[in-house]
Amino acid sequence: MPYQSPISPGRSWYEDTAGSRPEYPALDGDRQCDVVIVGGGFTGLSAAVHLAKAGTNVVLIEAHRFGDGASGRNGGQLGTGQRAWAEDMEAEYGLSRARALFDLAEEAKAHLLEFAAINQIDIDYMPGQLSVAHKPRYVDDYKAHAEIMASRFSYPHISFMDAKETAERLGSTAYFGGTRDTGTGHLHPMKLVIGTARVASQAGAQLFEATPSTGIVSTGGKVRVSTPKGTISAQKCLVAVNAYGGTLEPVSAAHIMPIGSFIGATVPLGVDSKVLPGGEAVDDSRFVVRYFRKSRDGRLLFGGREVYGVDDPKDIHIHIRRQIAELYPTLRDVEITHGWGGYVGITVPRKPFVREVMPNVISAGGYSGHGVMLSNYFGKLFAETIAGNRDRLKLIEDLKIPPFPGGRRFRAPLLFLALNWFALRDRI
Ligand SMILES: Cc1cc2nc3c(=O)[nH]c(=O)nc-3n(C[C@H](O)[C@H](O)[C@H](O)COP(=O)(O)OP(=O)(O)OC[C@H]3O[C@@H](n4cnc5c(N)ncnc54)[C@H](O)[C@@H]3O)c2cc1C
Repeated sequence: MPYQSPISPGRSWYEDTAGSRPEYPALDGDRQCDVVIVGGGFTGLSAAVHLAKAGTNVVLIEAHRFGDGASGRNGGQLGTGQRAWAEDMEAEYGLSRARALFDLAEEAKAHLLEFAAINQIDIDYMPGQLSVAHKPRYVDDYKAHAEIMASRFSYPHISFMDAKETAERLGSTAYFGGTRDTGTGHLHPMKLVIGTARVASQAGAQLFEATPSTGIVSTGGKVRVSTPKGTISAQKCLVAVNAYGGTLEPVSAAHIMPIGSFIGATVPLGVDSKVLPGGEAVDDSRFVVRYFRKSRDGRLLFGGREVYGVDDPKDIHIHIRRQIAELYPTLRDVEITHGWGGYVGITVPRKPFVREVMPNVISAGGYSGHGVMLSNYFGKLFAETIAGNRDRLKLIEDLKIPPFPGGRRFRAPLLFLALNWFALRDRI
């Protein structure tokens, strides 16, 4: 039987196409190191790379296999800037701070592509991102956004698309206009996970899979991370468990909420297909965002179903096919070869959560569906912090992220009600 992530539903198309996925040993015995990292997604693996390259003695433990969380199973879209539009960040924080946050995200994008190129990780990168309005009333916002990005954020790669151009680029008349961003793109996330782990290991990081942390204690200037077969003692710790941490670390758990998001992959659509002839990725204006793109071999990878809490739907294929047919009626009977999901870590204001949750223990996550480039970069910023420069990580630490109301017990039902209300608004 092919391996399948035990913590995320469905075998992903990425798992079938990532090539060989080396296994790493489980920890057996105690370890002493400078830095211990808990969680082997993009955040943890990238931190391991940059720490090891700087000569830090680093141990990373992953409960299952690298990429079994969100990092190996996501939509692969890089996006531009932070998750919130730069002009909304400006309204909240003023232009100079909004620009600093935007520029940081642009560095994150450039860093990711450079990292993959230098380390010869073939991430199936394809350029282009279309952001589209599912209601006519949003079209003017997209138009203004394109102008603001060029004039106030020195980002000239976004252009406005009217309804005609949108229909041509999508191969669908379901949308009313939008923007085209030629400065970003999309990738194969599991290939990036596998490549990043390889680079971390080659740089000297000690990587362990099948090693869950059962507790983190910080006393007397030391951090101790316990696992079933050994304890790791370190000066510093990075908690990089994001939406998959359960109750491991209560402060992160109170601020980061898991939301299930689900993707289906069709059979290759063939060279005559009118769907996305330019190969861009797409995200739409719905609150429950529909995000889709074509793979290098011409499949439509379509995400658009969310579940609030951690219940797995048994019907990923049915829901995804129905949503595909709404945009592409000719694909109403298309064969879906893979349906899978994972848990996105969201925060109340949909901005990342970075905090020193105990002395010498920093937690990072809650990228709210915008973590492909940010999580990789936050690993680098954490390594910078360990080397003595916390300025850039501080930009994120200073964002105000309140805990979810209702505590761990009631927040899921409360969020369920709130999000279903917004999902209903998508339809009216
Ligand atoms: C379906 C889906 C689609 C998405 N699409 C996009 C997209 O298109 N663009 C975008 O920017 N973002 C997207 N995201 C979000 C993006 O994938 C995440 O922001 C990013 O991967 C987070 O990386 P991470 O390393 O912080 O967390 P993860 O990759 O989730 O890694 C956390 C790891 O911690 C491990 N762990 C948990 N508890 C323990 C423990 N006690 N001990 C040891 N290890 C533990 C888990 O096993 C897991 O491997 C999507 C997410 C999903 C699920």
